[in-house]
Amino acid sequence: MAGFDITKKKAFVCDLDGTLFMGPDPIKPAVDFVIESTVSGRFGFFYLTNNTSKTPDEYIKKIAGAGIPVRPEQILTPLITLEAYIREKGYKSVYLMAGEKVKAYLTERLADAGVAFEYDPERNELIALTYDKELTYAKLADATSLWNMRNVPPSPMCPVRTVNRTPVDYVATHPDNCCPSERGPIPDIGGMMKFLEITNGMKPSRVFGKPSPTLLKTVLDRFAPEEIAVVGDRLYTDKAIADNAGVDFVCVLSGETTREDLAKYTGSEPAITVETFNLIDA
Ligand SMILES: [Mg+2]
Repeated sequence: MAGFDITKKKAFVCDLDGTLFMGPDPIKPAVDFVIESTVSGRFGFFYLTNNTSKTPDEYIKKIAGAGIPVRPEQILTPLITLEAYIREKGYKSVYLMAGEKVKAYLTERLADAGVAFEYDPERNELIALTYDKELTYAKLADATSLWNMRNVPPSPMCPVRTVNRTPVDYVATHPDNCCPSERGPIPDIGGMMKFLEITNGMKPSRVFGKPSPTLLKTVLDRFAPEEIAVVGDRLYTDKAIADNAGVDFVCVLSGETTREDLAKYTGSEPAITVETFNLIDA
């Protein structure tokens, strides 16, 4: 182990799928540890998820449903980063590829900024791809044709053009290739990005979520790097965000990563590796 000191820690940033939950079910010993530590005030907790198929409210329900006391500001999802990005760029027309609940959430969050989220080839300034579990062929075709009409020089292959020739921006909320489930890995946003890319070469200008350290900003505003640790089951997202933010990584073996994967891993060692999160205190 690379010198993990629990006495220095004040807060943990916990991944959800594979760390505290497996699909809909809580990983009981890990969840019990979080409940006890929250109630006693021993540690603060933040809940980090790349899964943008759900709104923060749905995560609050899931976490509270497992018996963990939780407030909205403890939920860290790239939907928050997407909202901040749209505000920062001043976009008013976004082609949002998202399920209805997520679309309603962002519409409400950005109501004060007057942002429209409908497909509008003349007005759209941004294509925003989320983990859209209501994805259809029509949505994929709209995204690629918007890109073709606005970002690719005129050609006989694409005779239909928009009057507006300003290139449209394109971002994705996170990079995950698959989502763990009780039936094994199922498709996440990675395949959706690839679907678009192999059609016409379009690539996102930004990919939010883990491993981008932007998601930890609100936590690092309150705690020193040595006072926090990221807890997760995935090396290429959870460990990468910890490394990128310069904080300890607690690797749990309750999800995707196995001891064999760790043995083959060429990056730095996790600060500590445990079967389930509660065992950091053993
Ligand atoms: Mg996970």
